[in-house]
Formats: sequence, structure tokens, C-alpha cells
Amino acid sequence: MIFDILTLFPEMFQGPLTTSIIGRAADKGLVGINLINIRNYSRNKHRTVDDTPYGGGGGMVMTAEPLYEAVDALRDRYSGRLGPVVLMCPQGLTFDQSMARELAGKEHVVLICGHYEGLDERVRALADLEVSIGDYVLTGGELPAMVIVDAVARLIPGVLGEPEGTEDDSFAGGLLEYPQYTKPREYRNQPVPEVLLSGHHAEIERWRREEALVRTLIRRPELLKGNLTEDDRRTLREIARQALEMKDIKA
Ligand code: SAM
Repeated sequence: MIFDILTLFPEMFQGPLTTSIIGRAADKGLVGINLINIRNYSRNKHRTVDDTPYGGGGGMVMTAEPLYEAVDALRDRYSGRLGPVVLMCPQGLTFDQSMARELAGKEHVVLICGHYEGLDERVRALADLEVSIGDYVLTGGELPAMVIVDAVARLIPGVLGEPEGTEDDSFAGGLLEYPQYTKPREYRNQPVPEVLLSGHHAEIERWRREEALVRTLIRRPELLKGNLTEDDRRTLREIARQALEMKDIKA
């Protein structure tokens, strides 16, 4: 999969996208990350990419032309077969795991990073999708683009070590992930649950599903809607029954 990232600050991507899992995925050729400096597409002699807003007001606005030129150049490079153009924008759809999964199915994605006070409104016409990483405003689209590349790349087969590496992740199957433990068996009076030491695969699977259900119920109950099997419903009814019993005992 190839990401073409249009940015004014390509140097910001050094580190996050060159180390650890994503760095190795790039080294292995599983993901290609091309950083394109928007400034290279400025036509004026000072290579400026921003200007004052019409109508007045503070801050500078990124001009449309360099971005249109950069996307045109990509269209030429990929002979018109460009993947979706995704604009980083706090006003866009909120990025989530299902969007990551959808993008991971593409061969090519273009990410546009805004900066300064924002972008000339006409840039929106370039985008197939506008994506926000949350209801807050950052100084630029570079961090959102890194978030998207990271979340998408780890879903590409081969990027994580094990094939089932992402299956149990929070949000992957609609629930939050169950608790995980590693050595030692006991740490500061906190023992590892016995079932995980039992070697009984079916019991472990059952425990993990129950824990995932309880955790989701407590922390993100809205996620349960539409993601439950009949067994899950039975488990939740049992949990509710036990909780009511405990309430009665305390009262
Ligand atoms: N004035 C704009 C507004 O209120 O909608 C915000 C502009 S922001 C300072 C500059 C750039 O950062 C945006 O064009 C966008 O590319 C990026 N950006 C900031 N916050 C973001 C977010 N939560 N998600 C995605 N991109 C964001």
C-alpha cells in the first residue's frame, strides 16, 4: 500500500514513520510512504503557499493552487488511477477503526495536511473524504496524517507479526479488548487470573470474551449495540443478575 502525503513539513514525519513497526513495514516494502513538499508546487518566485484571508481576520490561509498542482502531478504519476484523496480537517468525519479498515483495503491513499489558520475553501473540492482525528484543533494536519498511517498500516497483512494480531484489538470486533497479563505471575499483590495459567483454551477464550463484555459495558456501553451474539446477551444478563444480587446484599 502506498501513502502519498502532501505536507509543508516533511521533516516532521521522520521518527514516527521510520521507526518500530511502521519503519520495518516500510523497509520490507509492505507500505510505501512518499512525502511531498507542497511548497515545491508553488509557482510564485518566493515559493509562498499561504496568503491573507479575503474579508480580513487574523492568520494566514493556505492557497489552493500548490495543492491542486501537487494532486495533478500525482494523477499524472499514477496515470489517473489515484487512490482516495483524504483531507485532514477538524470539520471532517471522525476517524475510527472502521475507517482505518476501509482505507487499509486500498492500494493507494493521498493524505493532505493543512497548516496555518486553514485552507482555501476550494481545496475541499480535491478531497474524496475529509477526516478529523477528534474534536480539537491542532496546528497542522501532520500529526493526524501520522495517526492515520499508523492505524491503517498495522491492519495490512504482514505488518504485525501474527496474522491474528489485530483481531482482538479494541474496536476490531466492536468491543474493547480483554485484560492482558505477562510475567511475573504475581506483581505487588496483583496475581494473574488463574484461568490464564490453566492452559484450558476454551475456558480462556470464554473468560476473555466475558472480560471484554464487562469492560465495554462499563467504559463504552454504546459500543455494545449491534455487536452481541446470543451467548453475549446471556453473559450480560448473568452479569446484571449478579450485580443486582450484590446490591441487595450491601443494602
Ligand atoms: N481554522 C480551522 C478550523 O477551525 O476548522 C482549523 C485549521 S488548523 C489550525 C490547521 C490544519 O490542521 C487544518 O487545515 C487541518 O489540516 C489540521 N488539523 C487541525 N486539527 C485537526 C484535527 N482535529 N483533525 C484533522 N486535522 C486537523
